[in-house]
Amino acid sequence: MSAAGTDAAQAAAGAAPMRVTHVYHSGFAVELPGCNLVFDWYTGALPPLARDLPLVVFVSHSHYDHYDAHIWRLAEDFPKVTYVVDESVAPHAPAGLDVHAVRPDQELSLALPASAEYPVELRVRTLESNDEGVAFLVRAQERTLYFSGDLNSWQWDREAEKNEASDEFFRRELRRASAAWQRPHVDAAFVPVDPRLTNPVAGLVAYMEELGANVVFPMHYWDNRQQAQDAVARDPRAARYASRLVWDDSWQSTEG
Ligand SMILES: [Zn+2]
Repeated sequence: MSAAGTDAAQAAAGAAPMRVTHVYHSGFAVELPGCNLVFDWYTGALPPLARDLPLVVFVSHSHYDHYDAHIWRLAEDFPKVTYVVDESVAPHAPAGLDVHAVRPDQELSLALPASAEYPVELRVRTLESNDEGVAFLVRAQERTLYFSGDLNSWQWDREAEKNEASDEFFRRELRRASAAWQRPHVDAAFVPVDPRLTNPVAGLVAYMEELGANVVFPMHYWDNRQQAQDAVARDPRAARYASRLVWDDSWQSTEG
């Protein structure tokens, strides 16, 4: 039985409750009353998701740690699945699926068939990654999400100019997307904190300074969560956002 219609009606009065599961690395599932969203799922088990709700599968780019062909098999279990994927991923889709190939700096609006009475409107804006593919701003059921993919302030052991250029690129894309959506209030953001970098938290700091969010899910650290947490703790600019960071595998919104 679906409660999607009822929930969508309730959600119309305010922000919908939201549950986030960190599957692995940059893979997340976001559950809303009227639709479910999956981001960059390449390995690990998804949480049990309602099969009668629309499912939107996002893929930021085709690197192995963001995309695996098993995403296409979700169509076997989820009749209302839609794919919003970088244009490098779309050619891998089997025929007959609902696939939206996206490039940087695009807007997309989808009416998801949550129920006959209450279709969920999903809005997507893409940002250009400074690695490969895109990042996503997503709006659904009064919730705004930001998912970075491999767009980040990449601070490697290399010439300072290249690191500065990476930071500036990231900030420019965030400012551009923010302006396009009239400085949105972001409920949840997914941002790399990669312990391989000489400064793993530069992207987190840049993100919070440029766009901000109620809660931030650090990602892109494979098995090295402790190292990512340590990187936040030892950098005063990042540590001031510690109360907004979610490291748990499962998180649920508390407000209405
Ligand atoms: Zn990656």
